[in-house]
Amino acid sequence: MLQKFLKEIVTLIAGKPAEELVDLLDGTKYVNEFILAKKLNLTINQTRNILYKISDQGLVSFTRKKDKRKGWYTYFWKIEVFKSLEFLRNNIMKKIEQINYQIKSRETKEFYICPTCNIEFSEESALIHNFTCNECGNIVSRKDNMATIKEYNKELDKFKKELDLVDEELKLEREKLEKIKTRASKKEEKLNIKEKERKKIERSKKSAEKKATNKTPAKKEKKSTVKVSKKSATKKKQK
Ligand SMILES: [Zn+2]
Repeated sequence: MLQKFLKEIVTLIAGKPAEELVDLLDGTKYVNEFILAKKLNLTINQTRNILYKISDQGLVSFTRKKDKRKGWYTYFWKIEVFKSLEFLRNNIMKKIEQINYQIKSRETKEFYICPTCNIEFSEESALIHNFTCNECGNIVSRKDNMATIKEYNKELDKFKKELDLVDEELKLEREKLEKIKTRASKKEEKLNIKEKERKKIERSKKSAEKKATNKTPAKKEKKSTVKVSKKSATKKKQK
C-alpha cells in the first residue's frame, strides 16, 4: 500500500516518468543518481530534473560528493516517506473540502445542463443566456441535484477510505521513526557512559601523577627557603 501511495505522490508532482523512481529509492539509504538514471533508462539530467521537482516539495533529500579529480558533484538520493505521506494526506483533505463545498452548493442552488453538449450552467449564467446553451443554442434543462449529490457522496466515501489508509501508513511510519530515534538515543547513552568512564580513568591517572610529583615537595620548600635566605642575606648585606 505504501509503494502505491508513494507512486501516486511522485506522479502527482513530477509526472508519469517519476513513478518508477519509487521502486528504486529507499527511505533510509541514499542511492547514487547514476544508478537511478541507468535503471530508469533516462539521462542524468532528465533524472535530476525529476528529482529536483520532488525535492522542491521536500519529499526526497540528497547528499553529494565531489569528485576530486573531475571537480563535479555526484548526488545521492533517498525518499522522505513520512513527508510524502503527509503531502498525500493534505492533497486528499483538499479534495474532500472541495467536494463538500460542491455538495453544499447543490443543496442550496439550482444548476442547468445542456443535453447536447453536457455543459453545466449555474442559475445566474443560465439566466443571462436566457436558458439556452451558449455553445449550441439548445434549451438547457434543470439538473437533478439529488443525483449529483449522490455522485459526490460516492466520491467523498472513496477519498475518506483513502484517507484512513494513508493515516494507517502514517502511524506505521511514525512508529518506525520513533524506534530509530530511541535506538539512536540508546547508542548515544552508551557512548556517554564510555566517555564518562574514559574521563574517570584519565582523572585517576592524573591524580596518580600528582601523587608521584607530590613526593618531592621538600626540594621546592628548600628552594624557597634558599631564596628567602638569599634575600635576607642581600638585605643583610645592604644593611
Ligand atoms: Zn449545448
